[in-house]
Amino acid sequence: MNAPFPSILPTYNRSDLRFLRGAGSWLIEADGRRFLDLTSGIAVNALGHAHPALVATLTEQAQALWHVSNLYRIPAQERLADLLVAHTYADTAFFTNSGTEAAELAIKMVRKYWHDQGTPRETILTFEGAFHGRSTGAIAAAGSEKMCKGFGPLMPGFKTLPWGDHDTLHAALDETVAAVMIEPVQGEGGIRPLPEQCLKGLRDLCNQTGALLVLDEVQCGMGRTGRLFAHEWAGVTPDIMLVAKGIGGGFPLGALLATARAASAMTAGTHGSTYGGNPLACAVGARVVEIMTEPGFLDSVSRKAGQFRQGLESLVASHPEIFEELRGAGLMLGLKCRKTNTDLVKAAQAELLLTVPAADNVVRLLPPLTITEDEIAEALTRLDRAAQSL
Ligand SMILES: *Cc1c(COP(=O)(O)O)cnc(C)c1O
Repeated sequence: MNAPFPSILPTYNRSDLRFLRGAGSWLIEADGRRFLDLTSGIAVNALGHAHPALVATLTEQAQALWHVSNLYRIPAQERLADLLVAHTYADTAFFTNSGTEAAELAIKMVRKYWHDQGTPRETILTFEGAFHGRSTGAIAAAGSEKMCKGFGPLMPGFKTLPWGDHDTLHAALDETVAAVMIEPVQGEGGIRPLPEQCLKGLRDLCNQTGALLVLDEVQCGMGRTGRLFAHEWAGVTPDIMLVAKGIGGGFPLGALLATARAASAMTAGTHGSTYGGNPLACAVGARVVEIMTEPGFLDSVSRKAGQFRQGLESLVASHPEIFEELRGAGLMLGLKCRKTNTDLVKAAQAELLLTVPAADNVVRLLPPLTITEDEIAEALTRLDRAAQSL
């Protein structure tokens, strides 16, 4: 007899672990084992698991109202939008349920902007190693063989450039380009930060040619690098920014933030979402933004990032046969491995430490931003044992 087709579409290679509870930086397996979580649901549980303030906010909102259509005013949504506008360069926000949906809206917004200018521009420049989601638009934007193969015909309008190749970028970015879409720190691509000078230079080129600058901060944003958004380090601002993952602290929530100019063509009826901006997600999102912008929060992220980075530098130095280098910014760190990255992920898991692989043979370390100094020390001990076991 043939094995039955799995009841869950088998698009993931899952480990056998079943986590039933979470608390702070810890996940508790069904068998009771406690794992130190350096994945945060891939940069999602930015305030750790079951943060008491988020549990309270979600519970309170759940008792009042879960869902109401965007045909009506939604106070929690207005509150979150006002907070984001107050704390960023942006004039306006649209809320989604995921990063992919924010990327889709960015593509639409760019196209409609140029359409309404009366001088249509079609090309959006993107970069190798990029990840903007798994929709037809987002895979075409990233352009990787791995994500695109078999899903053609791909949506046209994207040109993927090599990462870190200034000459090719200069040659490609002319007055026909509608926008440039880039992650300030590539996540899935292997924790590859865009140097501050390059982001500044890219902003200048966009200003000279009129191209809109779209930053995908779905993974590197929301406090991950020690600033609310990663581009703040370079002192320049985008026209459009994609946000998701950390902003909901584990509740599905995404956002597109834009300047009034970039958003000018998006009038009533041009876009919508049934669930986007719902009261539950927005109440939690507003609480996350409030906590991250409390005095001292982002400083503590940078301080702990310094501690972690220092420990990881010596880990790399003491295991030169395992590690090639340490990469990243803030608490978005990557260990580039000499051997297979998934072997290290498995070895760490055996030490009850959770990490995530990324492209370019990198193991990602994305702890909750609320991780304590003791937990960082514990993580370093477990990583050292994992490296030794290899
Ligand atoms: C995860 C991710 C996305 C997609 O977000 P989803 O919520 O999975 O749709 C887009 N861009 C980046 C940089 C991401 O890391």
